[in-house]
Amino acid sequence: TKTATPQSSGGDVRLHGISKTYGSFTAVHPLDLTVPAGSFFALLGASGCGKTTTLRMIAGLEEPTTGTVELSGQDVTALPPYKRQVNTVFQNYALFPHLDIYENVAFGLRRRGVKSVKKQVEEMLDLVQLGPMARRKPQQLSGGQQQRVAVARALINHPQVLLLDEPLGALDLKLRRQMQLELKRIQTEVGITFVHVTHDQEEAMTMADTVAVMNGGRVEQLGAPADLYENPGTTFVANFLGTSNLIEAEVVEAGEELLLKAGDAKLRLPAARCSASARTGEKVLAGVRPEKVALKHGDDAGSITEGHNRLPGRIKDASFIGVSTQYVVEVPGLGELAVYEQNIERDGRLVPGAEIVLHWSPAHTFGLDAAQD
Ligand code: ATP
Repeated sequence: TKTATPQSSGGDVRLHGISKTYGSFTAVHPLDLTVPAGSFFALLGASGCGKTTTLRMIAGLEEPTTGTVELSGQDVTALPPYKRQVNTVFQNYALFPHLDIYENVAFGLRRRGVKSVKKQVEEMLDLVQLGPMARRKPQQLSGGQQQRVAVARALINHPQVLLLDEPLGALDLKLRRQMQLELKRIQTEVGITFVHVTHDQEEAMTMADTVAVMNGGRVEQLGAPADLYENPGTTFVANFLGTSNLIEAEVVEAGEELLLKAGDAKLRLPAARCSASARTGEKVLAGVRPEKVALKHGDDAGSITEGHNRLPGRIKDASFIGVSTQYVVEVPGLGELAVYEQNIERDGRLVPGAEIVLHWSPAHTFGLDAAQD
């Protein structure tokens, strides 16, 4: 039952200027980061960006070159892993093959010399919905079930922080999606702080309250998933979190609203949504997400309301993927833009070659520094 769930209080994690260098290579540049107590926090980035190294420094498995790690107000930088109130779940589960599920979960309690483990182990097995599997061996479970055992085993000693290193990496896509929701539910139920490492933007956005996007050993941007998606601050974040259309433009008028010139077209966006300095004459990138762009065909094009951003183009590719139709549109002089349309009737779909007009609201447009790499 839900009421039997072991409730723990999560701890916060504060990283002060931690960095890691290997010889002359800097894997993590000096990093300041706060993970709020009880939150679900994701470190997101491509392979090699330093997210695992950061996680291992929190765990105590890797010694920082500079800086300190604080857990719930205590400086733990010099403490070995087992003396920190953290536990780690790895991608390969690392279950004991000769022990059954019950004993795998009980392990942490028995090692601490706890005599009666039954109640706690059963609560944990309930939490991860594996009660009926208690007497099976790990190899008799599916990958997703084994991963849940690994989570239960890591939570049994009530760590303040649970670290998860690509825990769903070995699962197929469908099971991965299920487990994302499952882990999110478990985190909400136990209230322990979760720090989750992943390279999958959808995974980070599904699960986390806060996402830190890492690139080249640095945090590029930190925020709630929706904020990062709607207001990316750099081209890296714009491209890493979903598809973005970035259009090269020049500032013609600066004010509360920016007026941009892109090829022959004029584009508008709120100045507050532009992360670049955007003075008159400066170059910026105007961005818009594919699902925010609509297209009009033929005579309908005249009905686009004044004040919308509009660009003429031609359909280059159209792919029907079930929930939406995804178009690649060629815009003369500006390159290719992606447009996702939902709920269109089968015979309403446009075919390659069709001349169309793209349009979207200035409010859905963001601006980025054109000079950054
Ligand atoms: P992945 O998703 O592939 O695990 P990551 O973002 O977690 O990538 P890290 O494992 O943190 O990346 O590694 C960051 C960088 O540091 C990589 O370029 C890696 O090659 C390097 N690195 C990691 N460990 C060592 C080591 N022991 N010696 C030298 N270089 C290392």
